[in-house]
Amino acid sequence: MAREGERQWQEKGKGPRLLLFPTPLQGHITPMLQLATLLHCKGFSITILHTNFNSPNPSSYPNFSFESISDGLSEQQTSRINFMTIATALNANCEVPFRDCLAGMMLENTGERIVCIIDDGLFQFLPTVAKHFKLPRLILEMNSVASFVAYVAFPLLKLKGYFPIQDPMSKTPIPELPPLRIKDIPDIKGQSPDTWYEMVANSLNQIMDSAGFIWNSFDHLEHTSLTELRHDHQFPIFPIGPLHKYSLPSSSTSLLVQDRTCMDWLEKQAPKSVIYISFGSLVAIEKTELVETAWGIANSMQPFLWVIRPGSVNGFEWVELPEGFEEKTRDRGLVVKWAPQQEVLAHPAVGAFWTHSGWNSTLESICEGVPMLCWPFLGDQKVNARFVSHVWRIGVQLEDGLERDEIERAIKRLMVEKQGEEVRERISAVKENAEICLREGGSSHESLNSLVDYLMSL
Ligand code: UDP
Repeated sequence: MAREGERQWQEKGKGPRLLLFPTPLQGHITPMLQLATLLHCKGFSITILHTNFNSPNPSSYPNFSFESISDGLSEQQTSRINFMTIATALNANCEVPFRDCLAGMMLENTGERIVCIIDDGLFQFLPTVAKHFKLPRLILEMNSVASFVAYVAFPLLKLKGYFPIQDPMSKTPIPELPPLRIKDIPDIKGQSPDTWYEMVANSLNQIMDSAGFIWNSFDHLEHTSLTELRHDHQFPIFPIGPLHKYSLPSSSTSLLVQDRTCMDWLEKQAPKSVIYISFGSLVAIEKTELVETAWGIANSMQPFLWVIRPGSVNGFEWVELPEGFEEKTRDRGLVVKWAPQQEVLAHPAVGAFWTHSGWNSTLESICEGVPMLCWPFLGDQKVNARFVSHVWRIGVQLEDGLERDEIERAIKRLMVEKQGEEVRERISAVKENAEICLREGGSSHESLNSLVDYLMSL
């Protein structure tokens, strides 16, 4: 419900303006547009700054203004998306266009108050430019609070000799960062350890004096990590998630075309019988791993809905599934290139989600009470998977790579064995808490009110 100040803006149709600038990747654009919609409903005027690459569709958001920032990305960089390549190129290319865009907006400004800029922490040039225009900067964090705590601990871990990591598969616990083990430290495959450490350290330097952090998470889930963060740092923190569960007007934020035939297919499946498999918008696996995955799924004998994104096998635009796979799985499986994931997870036929443990996917699964089989690939996904399997105990983790027998066993554990039932009970309780925190008086609801008050005070 709108409070007094918000109601006045809404009546006039024009509150103070917020600028939001997401990194142009699926997992970043979606929560940023959800936040924009939420804050627009609270009465703020919204401008979305966006790169040419993966630009959102303005017609889906008729109440927002859009400003395009030239990104200078080459066709090669945008056709095979690699997180590090995109992040480095955007940082090199966008500073001047971003500065020019802000300068233009300030010149045009007809007396309207621009409150602040909200980005997701990737643009290293942002603090200097924002400071130049005297604009406070807030971060919408795209990671869990737990993984942020892990990133913040990087300098300490370096001091303690964990870097460079000697054995990235080591299950040795890290006493300074329970319950993480060495293999759970966020890294990026194929990236030199020094470059990766430097990138994280630079990133931390440029975000730590932000005017505040907004989290797509909720207190009940991450109370311990939030308490730790609040204890160690002074910056204001607003855990207002799960963003996709507010009752708001919704528009599709999908960058790829969703194949909706899978919804009809799900209609024909028994309740909780299907394992949904998707590794998000960025992960690319090896061809041998695809083959192991296919046989693990086939041998588990469970119905499945599997998203294989074009380009998601290294070196190939598309790879045929192994010979005999189709025969073995006929009538109990469907492969699509991209699915309406939130709807899929909400479907009663879905009994488990085999995920790469991206934060959006993890939250979406939690909010539908769907147990997870975690196979983290890089970065914060490793921390998310560890918390899902060992702290919240709402999923299990594939620990030793993609190998058909282990995959088969893990799927059966979740779908047909007692452990699966226990996990399902626990995640149902977490789902309920996610719903409670968004209601009036709930922690995210209150935190959102504090965020609005804070933005008004800037
Ligand atoms: N997603 C989707 N359809 C798919 C696979 C994924 O709509 O077939 C969406 C999913 O709902 C989530 C996002 O893509 O919102 C993936 O974000 P996440 O943080 O999980 O992973 P990332 O893609 O950033 O690695």
